[in-house]
Amino acid sequence: MNEQGTIFDQILAGKIPADVVYEDDFVLAFKDINPQAPIHVLFIPKVRIKTHNDIDEANMEYVNKIHLAINQYAKQIGEDKNGYRIVMNCNENGQQTVNHIHMHFLAGRQMEWPPG
Ligand code: IMP
Repeated sequence: MNEQGTIFDQILAGKIPADVVYEDDFVLAFKDINPQAPIHVLFIPKVRIKTHNDIDEANMEYVNKIHLAINQYAKQIGEDKNGYRIVMNCNENGQQTVNHIHMHFLAGRQMEWPPG
């Protein structure tokens, strides 16, 4: 990550486009460019938190708001009852590729377990 931050900072700053599906004071959500399900949306905090390890008392309100945003969005698109999967990858073993936390919201198909 350089001084400009990650690609998600650039999306937050409006410097590169994103297909935004939800926004509030704490959270931005946009479609993943490489969808892994019929519906694949990334929910990110409007503050830079690099990994799940960096969530703390000072920034956890952003994380809480992500969960509320997901509930609202799932209901809005009618997938709350069908169900969905939310995933946050952390560091190398978790296959995190963008160092700005993001909750993957995956829906629209039957998920499998265990994940790959
Ligand atoms: P990670 O592997 O959990 O870090 O997930 C990063 C996600 O960001 C991947 O699913 C990518 O497809 C997605 N992604 C990367 N760049 C962009 C972008 O510019 N717009 C939308 N999604 C992106």
